[in-house]
Amino acid sequence: MSKVEEIYGSLVFNRITMQEYLPRGTYKELMTTIDDGEPINESLANVVAHAMKEWAIENGATHYTHWFQPLSGITSEKHDSFIDPVDDSHVIMRFSGKALIQGEPDASSFPSGGLRATFEARGYTAWDPTSYAFIKDEVLCIPTAFCSYNGEALDKKTPLLRSNKALKEQVQRALALFGEDVKHVMPTLGAEQEYFLISEEDYKKRLDLVLCGRTLFGYSPCKGQELEEHYFGAIRPTVSAFMKELNEELWKLGVPAMTKHNEVAPCQHELAPMFTNVNRAVDQNLITMELMRLIASRHGLVCLEEEKPFDHINGSGKHNNWSISADGKNLLDPGDDPIENLRFMVVLTCIVRAVDEYQDLLRMTTASAGNDHRLGGDEAPPSIISMFLGDELGRVVNAIIAGDDYHSNSNTKLDLGVDVLPNFDQDNTDRNRTSPFAFTGNKFEFRMPGSNQNLSDTNMVLNVAMADSLSKFADDLEGKTGDEFTAACKEWIRQTLTEHQRIIFNGDGYSEEWEEEAKRRGLSNLPNTAKALPAYVSDKAYALFDKFKVLNKEEVDCRYNVKLEKYCKIMNIECRTMKRMVRRDYLPAIEAYAAELAEEIASIEKVLGEGKAAGQRKRFEQIATGAEKIHELCDLLHVKHHEARDLEDAQEKADMYADIVIPIMKDLRAQVDELEIITDRKYWPCPTYNEILFYA
Ligand code: ADP
Ligand code: MG
Repeated sequence: MSKVEEIYGSLVFNRITMQEYLPRGTYKELMTTIDDGEPINESLANVVAHAMKEWAIENGATHYTHWFQPLSGITSEKHDSFIDPVDDSHVIMRFSGKALIQGEPDASSFPSGGLRATFEARGYTAWDPTSYAFIKDEVLCIPTAFCSYNGEALDKKTPLLRSNKALKEQVQRALALFGEDVKHVMPTLGAEQEYFLISEEDYKKRLDLVLCGRTLFGYSPCKGQELEEHYFGAIRPTVSAFMKELNEELWKLGVPAMTKHNEVAPCQHELAPMFTNVNRAVDQNLITMELMRLIASRHGLVCLEEEKPFDHINGSGKHNNWSISADGKNLLDPGDDPIENLRFMVVLTCIVRAVDEYQDLLRMTTASAGNDHRLGGDEAPPSIISMFLGDELGRVVNAIIAGDDYHSNSNTKLDLGVDVLPNFDQDNTDRNRTSPFAFTGNKFEFRMPGSNQNLSDTNMVLNVAMADSLSKFADDLEGKTGDEFTAACKEWIRQTLTEHQRIIFNGDGYSEEWEEEAKRRGLSNLPNTAKALPAYVSDKAYALFDKFKVLNKEEVDCRYNVKLEKYCKIMNIECRTMKRMVRRDYLPAIEAYAAELAEEIASIEKVLGEGKAAGQRKRFEQIATGAEKIHELCDLLHVKHHEARDLEDAQEKADMYADIVIPIMKDLRAQVDELEIITDRKYWPCPTYNEILFYA
């Protein structure tokens, strides 16, 4: 491998490259734009575009693209070359400021959820200078936002940027009360990415994996993850080669990939980057996911990014580690003097309020057809949101609520605003892995998002919900100073924590008792996408997004529609794939084996007399009865699938898929899986879990 320090960021137009390629004045002007969100003028853009092009060409680029995230959540690009023909045999390479700032992809081919009728197909992409341009496969990729000509957001990035701005304003207001005048406020995100790697050969033999990214059938493997030998175990050579190449490519793109290791399930792995500002972190996560798929293919592997590719073993999540940085200070770092501690308690209290108040909305952002199979599984948080604060901080919070004196381990009494809080970092050793939203020393880790998710929505909601709490704090406390402020602040913390304490839960989030307890507390439990999405279009959500100018009603509606539509489309694909596999692969295989068994029974009985092939007979009966049930269930699935498919109303359609179609799919799968383990393996049409998950 090349020297890491030399390759790191070599394909990114970052601050260092900018300094090298831009005139001093232009560089300074651009930094003001980036740091303070000042608009870009065309003459600045022209200079930047020229420098960017020179740099890109030197690094092998021939094309450029506006790189953006339409509402489907994946990234889109359309490559334009730099060439500008001057005569029949000559070209010069050009890139204008205009082409850098704004592009015009054909918006009609991207989902808009009804926001933009197709006849108004025009939409435009606008350069986001806060996320660096980079070179991928000889193409200069320019991160952009994607909007309609009326200015409505048609992408995932725009609302995230708006929510960053809203959060910044409210953090500034709140911190001003502590006498702090902060300039740069940015939420930070570290997105841990889990994924599976399987052999391409096996993958190609399974229509479900190829079309749905996950298996729709498969009996549990004889050995699962119970020996816990995979987690942190030695990494197999093919995987290791994949990881090395992935790291090198990511480092070139300035993605700070830090940790790579095996995960709990066989064939499951994780990559964790160093955290950075949320906008760049989301972009980097999307690049990471794309490179994972690409690089796997160079090693005879396939990277599965779906949340639950295999039943019976763990699924994959994308832990959303989130905090807020203000002038370089982490606001979730408790600090070590009393006033910092008080500020920390305010920030913490605001998060507790935000998560409780907007639990449905947060849950909604993690809802997808794939994640439905993961959430509530044995390894993943349930679909109920709760927060874990750790033992020590939990005790502090309880004491505040009860109005008691808090005694830390050293048994000194603690008075908020006067005394210093204990060190919560030490609590990390026994932190609760079952909590969906856990405080981990100096950040919160939201574990509900699935591996395949674009994290923009989740962080957009976190930001704006937090902005709402901070704005309430500022509204309530503005005008108070000195001791009066400290006293009022303590009282605000106590009251708010008391109002929202139901969201705090330190026990086992996977247990059934918790479901009961959560219900008693009035926490919501939205078990699937169809039930979770309506939170988006609730009055409360409209009001929140509108108050902070993050999304207007039309923009919210269109997002809800796109999510519903996507869910229904995936369900339709899965139903069709399932039926196809049953009819063309599984039933013919099972019936061929049944025919062979029947012949065998006949010939044995011919020689040895009736009743002599008892074992074969029993097996034949199992197979014949099983096959009959499969026929029935497949017919039933067909009828209900079509009923759902033909419903007009998208919400009704989604509900029918979730409530009626999915249970039939589960029954059908169970029936096929039953026969998988008694059918002669030479008949079985595709690789089983044993083979896929335990390849050499
Ligand atoms: P794990 O959850 O596997 O124990 P770590 O606690 O080491 O992992 O960190 C997980 C992720 O959290 C990493 O991506 C890390 O960069 C990120 N992280 C650490 N501090 C912050 C922060 N202040 N804001 C956002 N993310 C952070
Ligand atoms: Mg984690």
